[in-house]
Amino acid sequence: MQNSPLILDGKVVAADVKNRLKDDIATLLSKNIVPGLTAILVGEDPASQVYVRSKERQAKKLGLHSDVIRLDAHSTQAELLAIIHQLNNDAKVHGILVQLPLPSHFDEDAVIEAINPEKDVDGFHPISVGRMQIGLDSFISCTPAGVLEILDYYKIVTSGKHVVVIGRSNIVGKPMANLLTRKGKRGDATVTVCHSRTPNMALFTRQADIIIAAVGVPELITADMIKDDVVIVDVGINRVGDAKLEKGYKLVGDVDYQSVLPKVKAITPVPGGVGVMTIAMLLSNTVKAAKKLSL
Ligand code: NAP
Repeated sequence: MQNSPLILDGKVVAADVKNRLKDDIATLLSKNIVPGLTAILVGEDPASQVYVRSKERQAKKLGLHSDVIRLDAHSTQAELLAIIHQLNNDAKVHGILVQLPLPSHFDEDAVIEAINPEKDVDGFHPISVGRMQIGLDSFISCTPAGVLEILDYYKIVTSGKHVVVIGRSNIVGKPMANLLTRKGKRGDATVTVCHSRTPNMALFTRQADIIIAAVGVPELITADMIKDDVVIVDVGINRVGDAKLEKGYKLVGDVDYQSVLPKVKAITPVPGGVGVMTIAMLLSNTVKAAKKLSL
């Protein structure tokens, strides 16, 4: 008889992360240093607008300075690079983030590379990625960092476990897999990475002690693809139509939550799991940047 599954509550863990930042913020404020985060939003993408507003609200609530530079969707690469250059040289700004995706005429890689790595609070700059890869102190991409916080908070050990990461994007899948193979706490796992070219993915997911799904395909992982007592972290956030709801859609993850629930040891819900962690980790990176740049 299976015990009831542990629901890994991102809201609780995010609150804990933010709480742990308070002492550092107080120390900085006592020295008249206000950790500053500036977001650049290009265009009118509604999901990006929501994210950026939420980042600004949560940063201010914690006592950080936060502002948003809004650019027209038709702005040029040169205009965006000039703003990044200005922010790189502004001592009041400790963290810079460019909300992705950018309109298609921008060269995203060049934009990310233009950010001063010491202010790269999203952890996307090649220097941050490279430092993380070889185990040096760095800004870590916020979503995978949030996944590790959740596992740690709920004392889910990764050492010696077989973790299957589904997805190999630069912002989630790849850094996730890399972090889990690092030596030491929160690492030491044996990691398999699956992606769209993986034939018979269930062959791998059925062997997993921990599954981390970062795919973007609604409810791809079903009960027949997992073994009993697996831990599942569902990074996916997908909108699917639901005529019963006033807004006309609901959010679901990459995992078929209801079907897997009776088999799992622990699972993150969507929404309320990994999604809420990302901003908490961004704020944590901003405080870290302020400390490194100012103290
Ligand atoms: P992405 O860049 O589109 O990458 C998706 C990955 O999934 C790719 O590696 C792709 O393989 C793989 N994939 C696609 N279809 C597959 C299939 N049928 N079977 C196996 N693998 C498949 O997406 P992302 O940015 O990593 O985001 C993934 C999901 O996480 C999305 O739902 C996104 O909304 C969500 N997300 C949430 C947060 C948050 O919680 N704050 C943050 C970021 C992303 P290929 O490489 O072969 O194309």
